[in-house]
Amino acid sequence: MSDQHAQPSQHFETLAIHAGQEPDPATGAVVPPIYQVSTYKQDGVGGLRGGYEYSRSANPTRTALEHNLAALEGGRRGLAFASGLAAEDCLLRTLLAPGDHVVIPNDAYGGTFRLFDKVVSRWGVEWSVADTSDPAAVRAALRPRTKAIWVETPSNPLLGISDIAALADIARTAGVRLVVDNTFASPYLQQPLALGADVVVHSTTKYMGGHSDVVGGALVVGDDTLGEELAYHQNAMGAIAGPFDAWLVMRGIKTLAVRMDRHSENATRVAELLASHPKVAEVFYPGRPEHAGHEVAAKQMRAFGGMVSFRVVGGEQAAVDVCDRTELFTLGESLGGVESLIEHPGRMTHASVAGSALEVPADLVRLSVGIESIDDLLTDLTGALGR
Ligand SMILES: *Cc1c(COP(=O)(O)O)cnc(C)c1O
Repeated sequence: MSDQHAQPSQHFETLAIHAGQEPDPATGAVVPPIYQVSTYKQDGVGGLRGGYEYSRSANPTRTALEHNLAALEGGRRGLAFASGLAAEDCLLRTLLAPGDHVVIPNDAYGGTFRLFDKVVSRWGVEWSVADTSDPAAVRAALRPRTKAIWVETPSNPLLGISDIAALADIARTAGVRLVVDNTFASPYLQQPLALGADVVVHSTTKYMGGHSDVVGGALVVGDDTLGEELAYHQNAMGAIAGPFDAWLVMRGIKTLAVRMDRHSENATRVAELLASHPKVAEVFYPGRPEHAGHEVAAKQMRAFGGMVSFRVVGGEQAAVDVCDRTELFTLGESLGGVESLIEHPGRMTHASVAGSALEVPADLVRLSVGIESIDDLLTDLTGALGR
């Protein structure tokens, strides 16, 4: 795809709509069609028409998404997977060999922790936990066989902030790769590669897709050689995004900028309400001036995103009760869709980290603040918190 409509000099909103989205060469369709196809006619043995031979290796709909992802993160190569965890698995199996070590964050998506704790460790890969919001702690955690520093910022579910540029310096000096899970921010709010990271990870299930209707994942890198290695493994292991899923993610991305603006505005108002509420013990939102990572977040993010967590006065049962009482905030896992969601991380998304260094407070509630009317959202939360 030649990308005549998209130039790297263009702004994010334009790239989101045009990068990789050339009108279909066969028909002129203005959005890439869903190429629901497994194989391609060859003009004589090995004579590929458009470079496509089998859809695990490449499919035009997935290619359109992958070009778009690379442009949005300011990278050289984007790769689309069946889920965020499939992307993580491909990355880890590309980067690591038995005996290698990874520094992982003390606050992370529960499934990422489970992948290290229960799967990767069985191949003889070592990992240790560090507070990635403290660059000195990350430097101290490095070992001779450390191959990667893994960071999530903002983190899930405590909205911790790690200084990507500072960690990139440490990684570069030590000759290890910095991996940033950019799911909570999305490339509209934060661009890790420009700050010195080597790999960006996404669960496109969340803000990129944005409508709670698809599960997907992505990797974006700034280095062609690493991009080739990842593409080799993606094809060799096969956890690719199917054409319809790729198409849904592309469709979501076109409105990412306007959605993230509204998510951030609404979340700011929700955090304000919670901070002044007598039933709330503590609010976690990087947009709050009292948040420990506020200054770093203000430096590396365009706005502070749609995720807000808080601790409820009265302990675990009180937190569970709040989750049961909202009407507009739907009780459910996941995040990043247009509709607001509420959940109890300790019993739901983060049950797999119980008893580990990543355990989350039992009285914690996590909100994915959607783009409904802010007045309706505030009314719902006020009702659920009670007096
Ligand atoms: C959801 C999520 C993942 C995993 O992605 P899936 O698409 O569910 O496999 C990874 N990281 C973060 C921060 C997430 O929220």
